[in-house]
Amino acid sequence: MQLNSINESVIEIRNSLPAGVLLVAAAKTRLPEEVQAAIVVGIKILGYNYLQEAEQMYQIVGDKVQWHMIGHLQRNKVKKAVDLFDMIETIDSVKLAEEVNKRCAAINKIMPVLIEINSGKELNKTGVVPEDVDELIVQISSFANIRVQGLMTMGPGFGNPEDARPYFKTTKLTFDRLSKAGIPNVEMRYLSMGMSNSYMIAIEEGANIIRVGTKLFGERSCKRY
Ligand SMILES: *Cc1c(COP(=O)(O)O)cnc(C)c1O
Repeated sequence: MQLNSINESVIEIRNSLPAGVLLVAAAKTRLPEEVQAAIVVGIKILGYNYLQEAEQMYQIVGDKVQWHMIGHLQRNKVKKAVDLFDMIETIDSVKLAEEVNKRCAAINKIMPVLIEINSGKELNKTGVVPEDVDELIVQISSFANIRVQGLMTMGPGFGNPEDARPYFKTTKLTFDRLSKAGIPNVEMRYLSMGMSNSYMIAIEEGANIIRVGTKLFGERSCKRY
């Protein structure tokens, strides 16, 4: 995509967002100049699915922006991931949380995390089902070096945007239930849901973090994703 169209898309989306909604640029496969073009016009958070790709971009962009892990995090990548990322949106097991906690303790960092909800059971391969999320959160809430700050969900990223609404509703209900549960050290502050085709619906359903790639940068050519 032309760099000036990236500038324009970022500005257009930013102007359309209600106050308080954070825009994460899902930057997988994008070139440094494309990412820079987004940052110049106000992108403050980059989301990456793979540590290695984030590390490469970090060499260029550094701490001008915040870095969110939005892909499935493998346990053997946690040590490096906690060094780079400012938030991990995809915690879905006690074991992963344990590792993040341990590695953060070693570098004196407290990591904000979101719990990834598998809101469309057959559809999503990662995340914890809503029935199991309370138990997971209770178990990890006492970990000193992570802070649970909310929930994230994928939902279908294709097809009719309305098809995503039920997934978002399910996740919002879970979010509200957990807000009221008052689990110590747990704050339900962020609800990350919605992608290019569905972010408007996600916002209607209560999202305050949206993760947008294609609509900022254009179609991805890489089939790996
Ligand atoms: C790629 C990706 C997005 C953004 O997808 P688009 O359809 O390109 O906007 C959002 N969230 C996650 C986890 C992603 O991997």
